[in-house]
Amino acid sequence: MAATIIDGKAVSKQIKAELKEKVEVLKKKGIIPGLAAVLVGDNPASATYVRSKAKACEKVGIYSEVIKHPATLSEKELINIIQELNGRENIDGILVQSPLPKHIDEPAMTLLIDPKKDVDGFHPFNVGMLLIGQPTYQSCTPYGIMELLKRYDIDPEGKEVVILGRSNIVGKPMGAMMVQKARGANATVTIAHSRTKNLPDVCRRADILIAAIGQPEFVKSDWIREGVVIIDVGMNRVDDASSEKGYRLCGDVDFKNCEPKASFITPVPGGVGPMTIAMLLTNTVRSAERRLTAK
Ligand code: NDP
Repeated sequence: MAATIIDGKAVSKQIKAELKEKVEVLKKKGIIPGLAAVLVGDNPASATYVRSKAKACEKVGIYSEVIKHPATLSEKELINIIQELNGRENIDGILVQSPLPKHIDEPAMTLLIDPKKDVDGFHPFNVGMLLIGQPTYQSCTPYGIMELLKRYDIDPEGKEVVILGRSNIVGKPMGAMMVQKARGANATVTIAHSRTKNLPDVCRRADILIAAIGQPEFVKSDWIREGVVIIDVGMNRVDDASSEKGYRLCGDVDFKNCEPKASFITPVPGGVGPMTIAMLLTNTVRSAERRLTAK
C-alpha cells in the first residue's frame, strides 16, 4: 500500500494562518512582533534563506529587519550589532545566519544573543532547558518535525525512533525532544552518525526513521521495516540534465523505493523544509507574547 505523504507545505500554511490571528491579537494590544536577521557575507544560500524568512514574516504580519554586512565585518562590529538588537524593544527574535566568515567565532556570537530572543533555539541556555524538559525556544527543524507528527496523529510514545545525524541543529535536539517524558514524545531513541556500525541494521529497528545526514538518497528500501514512518530532513542538490535548472532537490532517503514500504513519508521538497520557517515564526510570536506578559 502507498504511504501517506506528509504535506509540510500545507501544515506550514495552516500554522502561518494561526500565527496571523495571534499577531492580530497582539497588534490590538499595541505589540508588533519583530524579527531581526543578521547576514554577513555574500553566501547565496544564506541570502535566499534570509529573504524567505523575511517574506514569511511579512505574510503573517511580523516586522522583519535584515541587517546585511560584507564579509569584512569585524567580530567587534558584529558583537555591537547583536548587543544593540538585544536591547531593542521592537525586536523579539534575533538570528545570525550561519555560516559566518571564518574570522568570526560563531559559537561565541550565539552565546551573546539574549536567550529570551534566541528564536533559533541555538543558545546553550535554551539547549539545556530543552534537555531538562523545561519550556524554551526549540531548534526550529526538529520542532517542526514534532509538530508534523502531532498534526498527522503519529505518536512516538514507546516507539523506536532512529535519528541519522548528530548535528547541533537537527540530530541532537531531535533526540532530546523525542526522549522527553511528555505527551507526543516518550520514544526510545537511537542517534546514529558516521561512526555507527551496521547502519542498515540500526535503521531496520526504526518505527520512525529521521534522516538528517546530507547524503542524497542514502537510505535504501532494504534498510527499512514495512510500515515505518520516514521523516527526511536532507536537502541535497543532484545533477539532473532533464531539469531546466540542471539539478534537482532530493532528500537523504531513496524516496521512490522506500515510499511503497512506509506508512508515512515526507517528500523533499515540501516536507520538513517549510516547517523550519513556520517554527521560527512560532518562536518569534511566542517571544512577543512574553513581552506582553512582562508589561
Ligand atoms: P551536518 O553536516 O551538520 O551533520 C550531518 C550529520 O550526518 C553528522 O552527524 C554526520 O556524522 C552524519 N553523517 C554524514 N554522513 C554520514 C554517513 N554516510 N553515515 C552516517 N552518518 C553520516 O548536517 P545538518 O544536520 O545541518 O543537515 C543534515 C541535512 O539536513 C542536510 O542535507 C541539510 O541540508 C538538511 N537540513 C534541512 C533543513 C530543513 O529545514 N529542511 C534544516 C537543516 C538541515 P558525524 O557527526 O559523525 O560527522
